Amino acid sequence: MAPIFLVNIGQLVTLRSGAHGPRRGKDLRELGIIQDGAVVCLGGKIVTVGTTRDALRDSWVKKNRTKLIEIDCAGKVVLPGFVDSHTHPAFISPRLVDFEKRTAGSSYEEIAAAGGGIRSSVDAVRRAGKRQLADHVLGALKELSASGVTTVEAKSGYGLSVEAELKSLQAIKTASREWPGTVVPTLLGAHVVPSEYTDRPQEYVALVCEQMIPRVAKRKLAKFVDIFCDRGAFSAEDTLTIAKSARENNLQVRAHISQLIRTPLDRLLGLGPVSVDHLDCVNDADVARLANSETIATLVPGANYFLGLSEYPPARRLIDAGAAVALATDFNPGSSPTANMPFVLSLACTQMKMTSEEAISAATINGAFALALSKSKGSIEPGKDADLSIFDVNDYREIAYWVAANHCSYTIMNGEIQRNRQTN
Ligand SMILES: [Zn+2]
Repeated sequence: MAPIFLVNIGQLVTLRSGAHGPRRGKDLRELGIIQDGAVVCLGGKIVTVGTTRDALRDSWVKKNRTKLIEIDCAGKVVLPGFVDSHTHPAFISPRLVDFEKRTAGSSYEEIAAAGGGIRSSVDAVRRAGKRQLADHVLGALKELSASGVTTVEAKSGYGLSVEAELKSLQAIKTASREWPGTVVPTLLGAHVVPSEYTDRPQEYVALVCEQMIPRVAKRKLAKFVDIFCDRGAFSAEDTLTIAKSARENNLQVRAHISQLIRTPLDRLLGLGPVSVDHLDCVNDADVARLANSETIATLVPGANYFLGLSEYPPARRLIDAGAAVALATDFNPGSSPTANMPFVLSLACTQMKMTSEEAISAATINGAFALALSKSKGSIEPGKDADLSIFDVNDYREIAYWVAANHCSYTIMNGEIQRNRQTN
């Protein structure tokens, strides 16, 4: 792998910080920008971060310059690669019938009750070959990296049987080997209760705890266990049971919670989940508990947008109270079919009143904390993985400003360069 030298970076957004722990409150606005910056990467790691002037005087750079892959950033913006800490890429088909029903006025829950929703993605995943599923996952990873994402959390959850969940995680593993970025796999066997268990949901919870989780743990197919805790999915009681099983099998916990109805967060937070996601319906007590915890509050406004909701998660209340907020795409076929992270930043700013700085921190360093990867991901600092994105804009605020656009010209993943678009 050739060394990489990025020079003439108009704004090098480093997110460097002396502080431990995720960004909270005012720290979310500290981007650590270096004007006219330069970065040297070697062996897939960042080795030097500073100004172009200092880099050009560096004796190692002078001696090795002809061997470096040099990218002249021509005054553009460089960010740490986005860390997308919440995606569901292991599916086969878009859900166009659901989409049509929703445009005709049906709600997410009405569509699910009529046989649409998550369960309608299950048959195709159960029938699919592992390679076919891996190709779909790989397609999503490529689309994500085209918008500057370099680390992706990828959930199973459309198989809903031991065999199909294992197959989904194997497909994620196969795809991750064919993509230069970093993939973090999550078991979401507890997405919804599959149709064949409708009359005996407790047997499905037992299947998740006694079969899926131990087998996935034994084969090291996932780092996390996720649970969809909400009306129409799993109860708070079931969520705790599944979370405890995950912990007993040395897997970390994350949960979808309080998207449709509020579930008090106290008991789940007591189990130390790395992240709780959605949080549309949290109250002040939940916000205060989150602010006093190490758990990341992951917001996915793409789902609110696509479901046509007028309300968005209370980002301002969470940030102002001191909770550590992350942003993710929630890429999935039912409620958030977007792999465009800059669009998610735009939604965060326009719909949730986050600032551009907060949105960038939430989608990089706090995303890394949401995946327990903060030592290697989420900021541009010596020693971290060479995950960077070059945006063809002159000011970092343009990334959230240009609606649903993607100006990411290069994505560098673990030191491998991907060119996304011609720059002018
Ligand atoms: Zn989700």
